[in-house]
Amino acid sequence: MSRDLSQLTERQLYALRKRLAAGVHDPALTLRGALHSDLRQCSNERCRCRHGEPHGPYTYLSVYGQGRSRTVYVPQALAPVTAEHVEATRRGEALLLEISQVNLELLRRRALR
Ligand SMILES: [Zn+2]
Repeated sequence: MSRDLSQLTERQLYALRKRLAAGVHDPALTLRGALHSDLRQCSNERCRCRHGEPHGPYTYLSVYGQGRSRTVYVPQALAPVTAEHVEATRRGEALLLEISQVNLELLRRRALR
């Protein structure tokens, strides 16, 4: 995002926009959220988890939407594919933000198309 767009020609801006757009993820894979995992202790006081062997790690996806956040448990088998979707979405949205900056520069130059 530190690119100084004002130094680029219009031709370069169109090319940059095209290159950025090519890297945007497939919208069908969009999954917004933040993954985190943690270790847990259960309620059984005689369990191994009370002696340095906690359960887990368990993975969760924190999702923010409609003015509130919630946490969804991610089964271990789905953790890799979930991580891929979340990461692709994060990268894609960063690219969309950059494309928007390019289009803003084109608009300033009355060259938006
Ligand atoms: Zn336990």
